[in-house]
Amino acid sequence: MATPIVEMDGDEMTRILWKMIKEELLEPFVELNTEYYDLGLEHRNETDDQVTVDSANATKKYGVAVKCATITPNAARMDEYDLKEMWKSPNGTIRAMLDGTVFRTPIIVKGIEPCVKNWKKPITIARHAYGDVYKNTELVIPGPGTVELVYTAADGSETREKVMDFKGPGIAQGIHNLDGSIESFARSCFNYALDLKQDLWFATKDTISKKYDHTFKDIFQSIYEEEYKEKFETAGITYFYTLIDDAVARVMKAEGGFIWACKNYDGDVFSDMVSSAFGSLAMMTSVLVSPQGYYEYEAAHGTVQRHYYKHLKGEETSTNSVATIFAWSGALRKRGELDGNQELMAFADKLEKATIDTIESGKMTKDLALITTLENVTVLNSADFIKAIRAELEK
Ligand code: NAP
Ligand code: MG
Repeated sequence: MATPIVEMDGDEMTRILWKMIKEELLEPFVELNTEYYDLGLEHRNETDDQVTVDSANATKKYGVAVKCATITPNAARMDEYDLKEMWKSPNGTIRAMLDGTVFRTPIIVKGIEPCVKNWKKPITIARHAYGDVYKNTELVIPGPGTVELVYTAADGSETREKVMDFKGPGIAQGIHNLDGSIESFARSCFNYALDLKQDLWFATKDTISKKYDHTFKDIFQSIYEEEYKEKFETAGITYFYTLIDDAVARVMKAEGGFIWACKNYDGDVFSDMVSSAFGSLAMMTSVLVSPQGYYEYEAAHGTVQRHYYKHLKGEETSTNSVATIFAWSGALRKRGELDGNQELMAFADKLEKATIDTIESGKMTKDLALITTLENVTVLNSADFIKAIRAELEK
């Protein structure tokens, strides 16, 4: 590896898996070159969260990062880790610095069948990670009166739009988005579709929301025509826009194999729908792609706290490491692509194949054993599952 990847270590059970994956599946096969950042909560607290900022800056420098799941502190964690402050979500900090879009793709194996029987290929959700209802301002309207939207321009001039003449109590909400953020979202989606050579779908409710949602539609359309149309035609893929309710109906009837770009709230809702319909959050990869072409790979699940506490008590755990393994293989493959390193790309393919073959041969963790259609299943603990993959990889 001529260029390092940025390695962001994390917390709890996933931190334990992280070490095992490196020792069993990576270091014996690859001369790993990483720049290590410890995003474990203790070290974030020691460095006043500077380590998170440093790791995001390193990602801008090297272009590729792999991240372990991390704790987002809440009140209980303040006591548990004796924190100086309730540090922000590392994912939020990194996302804000890289200005990206999050793409989530299910990992498909034989024996873990999607609930939607015609889904034969993965459906990747691309979620816009800025604005709308996640940065809203709300009012409880106690009684009769008028609610207006007021825009005060830099020169002091005002534009007003009436929301409602309330005759009695009710509620109101103001939301916004930024052209710049929507443009980044669009470019990340178009680039990722070209990367995966898959069709891109996008949907909003522009017939009802004639300015807000229509702006999303228009920005996507003009960036597509000006920058991507020819590239899409050359790659043999299409960009398809439709209304959100039509998109949902079509997704249910489709066989998969495309990217579905979603506004922030739609992405929140539909990524959980798609991941649970495909089987498990532990079989879901997640990558943050910035418009400048920086990539950060991670698992879609959290630190699996419940299993960690069992582990601390010396009890056996059966935690699924597949999404974390695929975060590594994704990052190594991307590093290989960017550096023209064929061997590294080939290793990423082999690691993924060994992982899938292990499960398809009936060796899996408990979460999958509960939902598989395979017979003669062997349920393995966290460490033995990784060792079984190593045996397959060595073959
Ligand atoms: P979680 O870690 O995703 O786990 C929730 C439950 O899902 C687990 O208790 C387990 O169910 C199941 N599960 C998730 N991943 C699994 C795996 N790999 N193998 C087997 N089962 C798995 O969510 P959480 O417990 O709500 O959150 C724990 C911590 O993670 C929190 O501090 C949160 O802030 C953090 N978090 C981080 C990220 C991130 O860094 N990207 C994302 C989400 C949450 P059973 O207990 O039934 O076996
Ligand atoms: Mg959600």
